[in-house]
Amino acid sequence: MTREEIAALMADMGEKPYRAGQLYDAIYRRRLPAPDQMTELPRSLRAALGERTLITRTQVEQVFVSRDRTRRLLLRLADGGEIEAVFMPERHRDTICISSQVGCPLACDFCMTGVLGLKRNMTVNEILSQVVLALNEAYGPGSEPPHGTNVVIMGMGEPLLNYDEVMKSVRLLTDSRGLGVTDRRITLSTAGIVPRIYDLAKESVRPRLAISLTAATDELRNRLFPINRKYPLVELIEACRAYPLGDRERLTFEYVMLKEVNDSDRDARELIRLLNKVRAKVNLIPHNPAPELPYASSDMDRIIQFQSILVRSGLAAFIRRPRGQDISAACGQLAARHQAV
Ligand code: SAH
Repeated sequence: MTREEIAALMADMGEKPYRAGQLYDAIYRRRLPAPDQMTELPRSLRAALGERTLITRTQVEQVFVSRDRTRRLLLRLADGGEIEAVFMPERHRDTICISSQVGCPLACDFCMTGVLGLKRNMTVNEILSQVVLALNEAYGPGSEPPHGTNVVIMGMGEPLLNYDEVMKSVRLLTDSRGLGVTDRRITLSTAGIVPRIYDLAKESVRPRLAISLTAATDELRNRLFPINRKYPLVELIEACRAYPLGDRERLTFEYVMLKEVNDSDRDARELIRLLNKVRAKVNLIPHNPAPELPYASSDMDRIIQFQSILVRSGLAAFIRRPRGQDISAACGQLAARHQAV
């Protein structure tokens, strides 16, 4: 519920308007899981709320902890659907990777979620419950996290195919009186749903944008990303060029390093040519394996060589360290597994 929806609920229940602010604060800023813990509310209101509403039906089914301290939360939704959120602690901040769909329709064949197919879109409640449950799992309800939180919408699903619920979630996330994650700290990753990139460009509250590129020619990208046949690279790059950026802001292009598929010197030069007129930075992601996926990661030597070609041409490029690989929590491994493989 938005602030306005909570206000309407309070009016409906015959409560004073200021109760709406208290309830909003309890749900979003303090992340209290149930009305009976909201001791600033009168007992009668707590009881009435407990009877007619639930804050969320999303439940933490299992938590897997990696040796790099990444935590994979396997979450069960009200209808039994399962999704995952990944909590990555770092020294000065935490990053929470959240899902936007149960499964994914895009069928990229180097990604486990693509192998699952789409079950359904997630609701705002389900999307936000991931952030709330991950913070509560780490720090407990009611507590202030010790440092800032980044949110990346890069888990299961294609966020731009669940546009309205995702954007409503982004607006609620960024409310400084609630969860308080500023828009600069939210990144949405898309495989390239071109019309929705233009819609996103018009939003007043906008996450940072990352594009899953991984191939610099249509020939290769059609093979890896079936969606590329609908929105080919010229159209995708044109949409990127039209995307409004802040002063020092750049678009992120994710490039998954697939051994002997997209990692030659020639591939690097194609990538430079493609991104020539875009304010871009490239994240090189070693491919994370799964038994079902027919690819291997490029060797680190090759990745370093690939990076140096990009950097020499003036294109910013970074090698990403995989997180949570040992518990099937890394990019492309999210498949709601009940064990690590
Ligand atoms: N549908 C969105 C978000 C989910 S994928 C998108 O495509 O961007 C999140 C990131 O994981 C993408 O950059 C994707 O290219 C990357 N990825 C997918 N499978 C991977 C794998 N097996 N190893 C490493 N990265 C992978």
